[in-house]
Amino acid sequence: MNDKIKNILVTAISGNWDKEKLSMAKDSALSALLADDEFILDGVKESTALELAENEVDHGKYEQRIQRIVNRIKGFQEGKYNVTVFVSDEINAHAWPDGTIRVFSALMDILNDDELTAIIGHEMGHVVHHDALKSYRYAVGLEAVKFFIEGAPFPRTAFMTSKVIGPITSNYLNTHYSRKQEYLADEHALKVVSRLGLNPECVATVLEKFVELEHGESFHKIKRLFASHPDSDKRAKRIRKDISKLLNYCSDEEF
Ligand SMILES: [Zn+2]
Repeated sequence: MNDKIKNILVTAISGNWDKEKLSMAKDSALSALLADDEFILDGVKESTALELAENEVDHGKYEQRIQRIVNRIKGFQEGKYNVTVFVSDEINAHAWPDGTIRVFSALMDILNDDELTAIIGHEMGHVVHHDALKSYRYAVGLEAVKFFIEGAPFPRTAFMTSKVIGPITSNYLNTHYSRKQEYLADEHALKVVSRLGLNPECVATVLEKFVELEHGESFHKIKRLFASHPDSDKRAKRIRKDISKLLNYCSDEEF
């Protein structure tokens, strides 16, 4: 269980919530869950700006390589995407609801261009299917509840303050994808790579590389990616087993 959820439950169970606070927390969480997309995307802008300020962005060979790949996909993929490379030893990638995608340099070091295309296709899948939006909405609701537990007054008008949005990091954002969401994002990756005429097996080889790393010395580098993207082994096997069926099915869908 996510530590933050655990803390919230422990506080609630231990009786530290008075009725009024509990009711306000519930209202705030509901506001986040029911807020319109525009309202939520305003928060995303703040979160991505904070993330950008806290990370080193590559403007050299990594950026050139990723932009070359992204530009090919942009030719047919609907939506706006803004892909940035963070210089990091960590092996990771994630997408924000507004189409902002971050790829870590260490991930690029272990993948070839086809596999990198599969990763970008997968992350775009999370944006297209609104997985990232749902996840962010949930994170805002949870942060709002946490804010109440910590005892600060929290007027509705100040709902989207940096105190609530600030803690919503990518780490938090990506912890709620279900296996079904992952399967659908993998299928989106298959659609992207096959549209580009690449060998669709690259979607499976990425996952197989992750599984290999899971059992090796570099596990610490990939820990967060595993937490947010479970079942790499099952997903790789599914793609290997059903690749022709999945490709047929994917080709019927629109981008
Ligand atoms: Zn995913």
